[in-house]
Amino acid sequence: MSFAFHRPGSLDAAIAVASEHGEAARFLAGGTDLMIQINRGRAAPKHLISLAGLGLDTIGESEGEHVIGALATLDAVVTHPAFQTGLVALTQASAVVGGRQVRNIATVGGNIVNASPAADLVPVLLALEATVDLRGPAGTRSMPLDRFLVGRGRTERRPDEILTAVRFDKPPAASATWFLKAGRRKAMEISVICVAAHLVRGGKARIAIGAAAARTVRVPAAEALAEKEGAAAFREAGRIAADAVSPIDDVRASARYRKLLVATLVERALAACADRLGKDGR
Ligand SMILES: Cc1cc2nc3c(=O)[nH]c(=O)nc-3n(C[C@H](O)[C@H](O)[C@H](O)COP(=O)(O)OP(=O)(O)OC[C@H]3O[C@@H](n4cnc5c(N)ncnc54)[C@H](O)[C@@H]3O)c2cc1C
Repeated sequence: MSFAFHRPGSLDAAIAVASEHGEAARFLAGGTDLMIQINRGRAAPKHLISLAGLGLDTIGESEGEHVIGALATLDAVVTHPAFQTGLVALTQASAVVGGRQVRNIATVGGNIVNASPAADLVPVLLALEATVDLRGPAGTRSMPLDRFLVGRGRTERRPDEILTAVRFDKPPAASATWFLKAGRRKAMEISVICVAAHLVRGGKARIAIGAAAARTVRVPAAEALAEKEGAAAFREAGRIAADAVSPIDDVRASARYRKLLVATLVERALAACADRLGKDGR
């Protein structure tokens, strides 16, 4: 394995290198996915373009939105003051990625662009109806994360586009989020199923599920039921979500077991949101 390492001094310079080399180049953030893929022979870029030091690592707010820079680390998400109450699902999901060393360098943008169906942060961002910002030679474009994700390892990103940030509306005060992950062990484990829920008092529910299809998915039919609120509606939402997904059998779990997990975790995540809203969710 050999590649040229580029350390550009600006976003435009990084994009120029990527444009010049096309599919032979890959951007490097924390490297916790990419370097492993290179070591295992699953990726063989001829050019690695570092995104470090280009100002993409801030987490902030603007005009009713939260904006997370693509290079923000998962550790920075876990400890961010704005994510400790209504947006706690962001910290719950980030906190179960790998171990401390991984979270210290792994980035939000890497988790999204890598497009693993089991990426833990992605269901939370989908449940928050997040938008991604992409910068390329022609300028910046934005699109819903739901449209950005195409399939396993595939997104709408062009090879010379940098994911610069992910944004989502500040949720209303009377809203709650929750994230649940099932794995074969409690730490350093890829999700067998992961679920994120976002409940707004007065009738809005969003549910997203990871590791249950070729990409992380929302389940609108289950969301509609969950909006009725209450224990029976949440149970039924779980059942409908399980029907809606098509997980695979693999070494981690059978498809049937994954569907059972979806039903249970969706119900529990919704109930946890309702509890946080001070309602009787069970
Ligand atoms: C031991 C271990 C355990 C792990 N456990 C989990 C887990 O439990 N859950 C989980 O979800 N993940 C897990 N991961 C995977 C990984 O840590 C995360 O997906 C992480 O968020 C990836 O971020 P990164 O910055 O390291 O990405 P990188 O490896 O740098 O990049 C990943 C991909 O995205 C591209 N890319 C990165 N940033 C950008 C950008 N801004 N613009 C354009 N392209 C970009 C790269 O070119 C590459 O193709 C684990 C990894 C390890 C090594």
